[in-house]
Amino acid sequence: MLKPEVLQELIQVLGKENVFTEKEDLITYAYDATAAMKRVLPDVVITPASTEQVAEVVKIADKYDTPIYPRGSGTNLSGGTIPLKNGIVMSMLNMNKIIEVDAENLTAWVQPGVIIQDLNDAAMEFGLFYPPDPGTVTTATMGGSVSESSGGLRGLKYGVTKHYVMGMKLVRANGDVIKWGGKTVKNVSGYDMTALFTGAEGTLGIITEILVKLLPTPEAKKSILGVFHDIDKAGNAISAIIRNKVIPATLEIMDNMTIRTVENFAHAGLPVDAEAILLCEVDGYKEAVEREAALVEKILADEGATEVKLAKDDHERDVIWTARRNALPALAQMKPTTVLEDATVPRSKIPDMLKAIRKVATKYNLTIGTFGHAGDGNLHPTILTDVRDKEEMVRVEKAVDEIFDVAISLGGTLSGEHGIGMAKAKYLPLEFGEAGVNMLKDIKQAMDPKNILNPGKMVRRD
Ligand SMILES: Cc1cc2nc3c(=O)[nH]c(=O)nc-3n(C[C@H](O)[C@H](O)[C@H](O)COP(=O)(O)OP(=O)(O)OC[C@H]3O[C@@H](n4cnc5c(N)ncnc54)[C@H](O)[C@@H]3O)c2cc1C
Repeated sequence: MLKPEVLQELIQVLGKENVFTEKEDLITYAYDATAAMKRVLPDVVITPASTEQVAEVVKIADKYDTPIYPRGSGTNLSGGTIPLKNGIVMSMLNMNKIIEVDAENLTAWVQPGVIIQDLNDAAMEFGLFYPPDPGTVTTATMGGSVSESSGGLRGLKYGVTKHYVMGMKLVRANGDVIKWGGKTVKNVSGYDMTALFTGAEGTLGIITEILVKLLPTPEAKKSILGVFHDIDKAGNAISAIIRNKVIPATLEIMDNMTIRTVENFAHAGLPVDAEAILLCEVDGYKEAVEREAALVEKILADEGATEVKLAKDDHERDVIWTARRNALPALAQMKPTTVLEDATVPRSKIPDMLKAIRKVATKYNLTIGTFGHAGDGNLHPTILTDVRDKEEMVRVEKAVDEIFDVAISLGGTLSGEHGIGMAKAKYLPLEFGEAGVNMLKDIKQAMDPKNILNPGKMVRRD
């Protein structure tokens, strides 16, 4: 239970209207987009409006040894915002100002509660864009996506969030406010603290302002869909596109289970009898895009696509990408519980990974739909299950263990983009060994000695 002094001091700093203790609020903030997680109710939910207020709150938490769980929109898929002990959920959604778009330096300063698409809309007025594009751009916040180093649909050509974060202002665990990085392209002063806090999942400090790099908006885009009746051929086509020196902005895959489910949900005209489809988008200067799109069409046909479709206009393009963005929501409505993973392998190992996932599905008699960012080797095997079915959940856990084992043995990683959070913390030794995990723990101990920042996530010290 929270000491009454903590609540009083929070109200003094934030005002009563920004401190919530009703049960309905506490229940809501005990959940995020992750299924089947252990959780407890927080004691209080707060909505600070400035760096100064965040710093004052952290000082209170430090004084009373009270955990703080920073939260953006709660769309993470690794249990990152779920409270594991009682304490304070700090929603950043009131800190939602785009502070500056600097078209000369190709940068923007934003507060952490800014929705990613809102930054893109502001940048567009200057002919610029912010490339990181998790499927949730219209919901997810900049603070949450920087803290996850989110990836998404444009990783292959443009990289992921960590490649765009140039600096930040943050509050560390003792309440000190620090600014790292800046607008210079080159900056090698000290340790790369901006990089350390990007992807730290709220375990090392609370980010209150973010400086990101923007890029000029590409002049043209073309989207191509390839239909395959053999999933191995689809896997081979992915490598063939890159081997032919085309780097698409986006190269996605959906397997048959996902295609059928999405078609039933979004009615996009997808080929429901296909084993897999590849969705590809090339962008850049108009002439280059024409040439690259034609080359992709040829490669897909050469690699065994039974049908290759080039989107004729923006409408057809939108239909393709809306269908892709609907993959998870569509699968999620099939069964009460969706366990979605993001094991990632080197691109050349995609056919092996796809085969392994199919074997796991058969072995454990589970329904698994697979889609994902094929060009990045980042697949999302999605297990459709029901958390109330205890016997099936045991099989689900075994299947997930096996999927991670295969990914690591193929030279991959536990998480391409969804983070470790609470869901994957136990698997970290698989990737880093005990010595590696101990080093992560040492960093956490040095930065947050009282373990008050998002405790129990990524590096478990309790
Ligand atoms: C349908 C669907 C599709 C998705 N597609 C993708 C995808 O393609 N690619 C991808 O990478 N992800 C994807 N995601 C995951 C998710 O959308 C991203 O991780 C997103 O960027 C998280 O943003 P958020 O605002 O919801 O963060 P939250 O979930 O609220 O928080 C994420 C983490 O950041 C911490 N945090 C939040 N704000 C701060 C702060 N200011 N300071 C310090 N720590 C903070 C939290 O404690 C938590 O650990 C998808 C999720 C869903 C539901």
